[in-house]
Amino acid sequence: AQLCERVRQGLVPQAIEKNDKSPVTIADYGAQAIICKALSAAFPGDPVVGEEDTTDLRQPDAVPVLAAVTEQVQQLVPSATDANILSWIDHGNGSVAPRYWTLDPIDGTKGFLRGDQYAIALALVVDGDIKVGVLGCPFLSFGGETGLLFVAVRGEGATMVPLAGGNPQPLKVTEASDRDHFRVVESVESGHGDLGQQGQVAQAVGITTPSLRMDSQAKYAAVAAGQAALYLRLPSPKTPDYREKIWDHAAGVLVVEEAGGRVTDMHGKPLDFASAARFPNNPGVVASNGSIHDAVLKALAE
Ligand code: AMP
Ligand code: MG
Repeated sequence: AQLCERVRQGLVPQAIEKNDKSPVTIADYGAQAIICKALSAAFPGDPVVGEEDTTDLRQPDAVPVLAAVTEQVQQLVPSATDANILSWIDHGNGSVAPRYWTLDPIDGTKGFLRGDQYAIALALVVDGDIKVGVLGCPFLSFGGETGLLFVAVRGEGATMVPLAGGNPQPLKVTEASDRDHFRVVESVESGHGDLGQQGQVAQAVGITTPSLRMDSQAKYAAVAAGQAALYLRLPSPKTPDYREKIWDHAAGVLVVEEAGGRVTDMHGKPLDFASAARFPNNPGVVASNGSIHDAVLKALAE
């Protein structure tokens, strides 16, 4: 989080276009390097399924980009070299296994570049069950504090703690009785969902307040903290065959579940974290406070 904020607040962060046309910045690479270094030291046997790889960084024309990543990482790990950085990032190219970590070093890179929300998202998955989920949201404010860390451990609840330090506060989704204050949270990027259908579903379950628009898994944090009752992410009509990636959801799902909420795909099936880097068979994501979940699934079915 510190590295990402330093890059964001520094010079206008430069985006590099990946093969799939999505953006990546030196902060994405730097965050993956630092987190993978820590994971490989603490849990050397655990694979890490991370978003970034070093293919582009190893090209001759990327020498200045790699140098910029190394310079950023050195602020936190002074001994880091270019070679270390490449091998730490590569440590994040593991596969789904009975026990693995999944990492999005910057979820919502488009939000990061726009000066909006983004999240550093890390989760531990054992036998397909998310055991630990952590969301670093350096630019998010709830209750007056900017820069928040959300931590969930299966069976032990979810807490929110300021990145600057302070006491962890337990997280709780909106109460069923708080209907009048229910609202939906959805992506800023219209191509990452179906705003039309999401609006219809919200209406069908009686939510009329305008939606909150946020990039990244900060949306899950909003549901967990009771800032929104429902996060809808329905397949975009432009990309109906898009399969969601595990690192875009794992940490956020556990934060919502441990705050008392519920998360399924749009047909009510649990998200499959046991199979592959993308859900093979889970279209759409519905994350809610729990009390309205069945009504949302019913509206979707209709
Ligand atoms: P958000 O900030 O919620 O808009 O989501 C950002 C994430 O959307 C990125 O990490 C991408 O992996 C993911 N993404 C990219 N294309 C699509 C798509 N067509 N549908 C849904 N999600 C997508
Ligand atoms: Mg992402």
